[in-house]
Amino acid sequence: MRKWLILFLFLPGCTNNENNNTADNRIENLIIITTDGLRWQEVFKGMDSVIAANSKFNEGDSSYIFENYWGINENERRKKLMPFLWKTIADAGQIYGNRNLGNKVDNANPYWFSYPGYNEIFTGYPDTAINSNDLGPNPHVTVLEFLNQQEKLKGKIAAFGAWEAFDRILNEQRSGIPVFSSFDSIGGSEPASNEKLINAMLQNSHKPWLKAECLDVFTHYSALEYLKNKKPKLLYIAYGETDEWAHAGRYRAYLDALKQVDAWLKDIWEFVQNDPRYKNKTALFITVDHGRGDIKKDEWKSHNNKIADSHEIWFAILGPGIKNYGEIKDPMQLYQKQFAQTFAKMLGYTYKAEHPIAEEIKNIFDK
Ligand SMILES: [Zn+2]
Repeated sequence: MRKWLILFLFLPGCTNNENNNTADNRIENLIIITTDGLRWQEVFKGMDSVIAANSKFNEGDSSYIFENYWGINENERRKKLMPFLWKTIADAGQIYGNRNLGNKVDNANPYWFSYPGYNEIFTGYPDTAINSNDLGPNPHVTVLEFLNQQEKLKGKIAAFGAWEAFDRILNEQRSGIPVFSSFDSIGGSEPASNEKLINAMLQNSHKPWLKAECLDVFTHYSALEYLKNKKPKLLYIAYGETDEWAHAGRYRAYLDALKQVDAWLKDIWEFVQNDPRYKNKTALFITVDHGRGDIKKDEWKSHNNKIADSHEIWFAILGPGIKNYGEIKDPMQLYQKQFAQTFAKMLGYTYKAEHPIAEEIKNIFDK
């Protein structure tokens, strides 16, 4: 009797330990995606009818917005805006940040704008000295730079960002990671035909933000081309239009940009799941650098530490070994500074640097 009892107690314990060991996960590749300043409010509740009905923001036509994005309840509305997130990721992944359910994700940095946010995402350190979008090369070693020093990942990491600042945020020069930002051409000295076409269209495209930022479509197709041809093990894609159209008060364009990002997430996931190098070995991590204000005083357009609530963010994750919890409904408090170590742990590493690094988000590895 005693032997049986010991065996009975031992086996389940052993299984649990194995399952909880993050080194056992099957994630070999990671694609990190950000869409600048996209509010959690649209992600979880869909379009906002008050903003859409306001003639200051609907570009003279609220009917387009209502026809495309209205639904009878928040569930319907959010599915119309982000069908991939609310189908594929809700079914097979995890979505954090619905504050209506007490599930909170926030900037830990006190500024609530881009460079401090991206620094926090990639260093795990909400350094108060990182306080301007105009700062030079990031003094801190990001998790991307750290991973690029690991034998298996060296030379297999790349970043594509619509905004020119990513060269500095990721310290392209020191890190050795290729950062294709704003109007950088792709394909090096001998671009393939697709790359040539993307380069030509990029240079000749409309430039609403001059040299600082290109339209997302170029960042997306440049990154997808790289994914197909160069097969990186860690790819970062940073879209920017959600932030730009919101600042401009163009709610229709903001929603359209978001819907397009969701469609591109689907494209990326379909490519990944149909390529033997990536299939069932690749995770997506989607988030934002900061939130935005509420509809009061038109503050949805803006974000910084004088705009209430613009520290409120969200993230989503999909991939092998990530449990299918869908929308996380438990009250909890998570911070953006936890993402960097989470990226490292997903790939089986522990990120170390000279600055303090917040611990990973343990929930995503729960079994
Ligand atoms: Zn902004």
